[in-house]
Amino acid sequence: MKKTIRLIIGDQLNSNHSWFKTVDDSVTYVLMEIRTETDYATHHVQKIIGFFAAMQAFAKELKTKKHNVIYIHLNDANNLHSFEKNIEFLIGENNFTHFEYQLPDEYRVDVNLKKLCEAISITSSVVDSEHFFTTREELGIFFEGKKIFLMESFYRAMRKKHHVLMEGDNPINGQWNFDSENRKKLPKNHKPIAPLVFNNDVSAIANEIAQTNIETIGNIDSKNFIWPINRAQSLELLDFFVEECLPLFGSYQDAMMPNEWSLYHARISFSMNIKMISPQEVIEKATSEWRKRPIEIEYNQLEGFVRQIIGWREYMRGIYWLKMPEYANLNFFDNQGKLPNWYWTGNTKMNCLKDAINQTLNYGYAHHIQRLMITGNFALLAGVHPDEVGAWYLGVYMDAIEWVEITNTLGMSQYADGGIVGTKPYVSSASYIDKMSHYCGSCYYKKALKTGDKSCPFNSLYWNFHDKNEEKLSKNPRIGMMYNVWKKMQPEAKVSLLEQADYYLKNINNL
Ligand code: FAD
Ligand code: SF4
Repeated sequence: MKKTIRLIIGDQLNSNHSWFKTVDDSVTYVLMEIRTETDYATHHVQKIIGFFAAMQAFAKELKTKKHNVIYIHLNDANNLHSFEKNIEFLIGENNFTHFEYQLPDEYRVDVNLKKLCEAISITSSVVDSEHFFTTREELGIFFEGKKIFLMESFYRAMRKKHHVLMEGDNPINGQWNFDSENRKKLPKNHKPIAPLVFNNDVSAIANEIAQTNIETIGNIDSKNFIWPINRAQSLELLDFFVEECLPLFGSYQDAMMPNEWSLYHARISFSMNIKMISPQEVIEKATSEWRKRPIEIEYNQLEGFVRQIIGWREYMRGIYWLKMPEYANLNFFDNQGKLPNWYWTGNTKMNCLKDAINQTLNYGYAHHIQRLMITGNFALLAGVHPDEVGAWYLGVYMDAIEWVEITNTLGMSQYADGGIVGTKPYVSSASYIDKMSHYCGSCYYKKALKTGDKSCPFNSLYWNFHDKNEEKLSKNPRIGMMYNVWKKMQPEAKVSLLEQADYYLKNINNL
């Protein structure tokens, strides 16, 4: 008799997958909490707990629907702590005759599972995870023969192909991209909406982790775990976003404010990345809300949001599968530095970094522009090795899974890929940070000072970065202008800036 074992990985909690359409007694699903997954990076404690809580809830839901489920807990005596070993053990114990899995999102896991299939004595097969708009190969085919992989052209093709925000063959309102209407600073006294958070009691999982030597980062209130851990909560968060935040999403997408950790962002990346909700339903929900309230939700807010999902998210996944595994080793600037210690404590006098890091430690979350223009910007200006930066980002965020973390960190943020993802490095001095935030006014450092004791470190490090990388960057038409400014600067001013940067880099742990 055929007996099938189907592996469900922690980021494959897709209850609408066709696997679950029928209940088949010859099929057993297995989910496992294993050390290869808790230990391949040092994760935020909330991230590990979020994954395990969602996996446990998913297993319970499958059991309620009468599917056969084996759930291996972290501290179970017979847990062998790897996909391969646990699957081999279960095959021996239960006489399974066939092994199935869904295409994983991570290269590392993909390689492991292929090896596993070769090693086991039974037949195996793999199915799609039925989550993304695109296949792994689609972006590579789309850009075949091209040297530049422009997100915008991919985004437009995706909109056409999936008929998203289209009127026939044309984009709604006659324009593809409404970015120029977005990205405003929040008014000083603006009070953003309080974020919807959950109060999940995850103390049993926290205790289980505490009994191990798993190293973690960050803080948690395990009686009031704020993140969604099942599909119902994920949908509730999505509803909250479209009802309360979407009307201002685009406008304040790049805005930052001290002590306001979520603003008008959706915070659905964790739910989406572990597939509790799908990108299709997220876009449909946002679009239908806009159709219901077209006056309150201006079109630019919606388009900005849709672009993140069907544009950036799918694009990053495509780049990942096109460029891995070589991508992980790229280091265009040959940066070799280390991250300052305060990336793990938030203990810095720089207000913007203190705020972004502290909220990261408290919630496992920072919004895009904090990741890009605060922590990422500083790491690039400081010449930190991309592996160091990558390990931090892969650990600290709830939504950090390599396919979307590495493309954003190494590509978009650190320009370590030399321009595959971005057309220029995302670096700035204090003026951009001040333009988009309310951090500088109450900072120990002075945004307007370029040199001297209290000068903002971003200022001198910014020029130091350009000076150091002139050979690699000066021909880039998007930054040539900065080099004109640099060249025109008085030699003494240049020396002072470089000396200031050198001082800050030598004292980086004390900034
Ligand atoms: P919102 O701002 O509300 O945006 C809505 C959704 O759009 C997000 O949930 C996300 O699914 C998608 N999206 C937006 N921007 C991007 C992007 N650049 N790439 C892919 N999807 C995007 N995102 C992750 O999911 N995992 C990561 O590990 C991750 N690491 C990042 C590291 C760096 C250095 C940077 C600059 C960005 C990173 N991002 C990552 C992208 C982005 O910052 C997060 O997706 C977003 O902050 C998640 O919060 P949100 O759901 O509130 O997003
Ligand atoms: Fe950040 Fe500089 Fe502004 Fe301080 S002055 S908040 S360090 S940009």
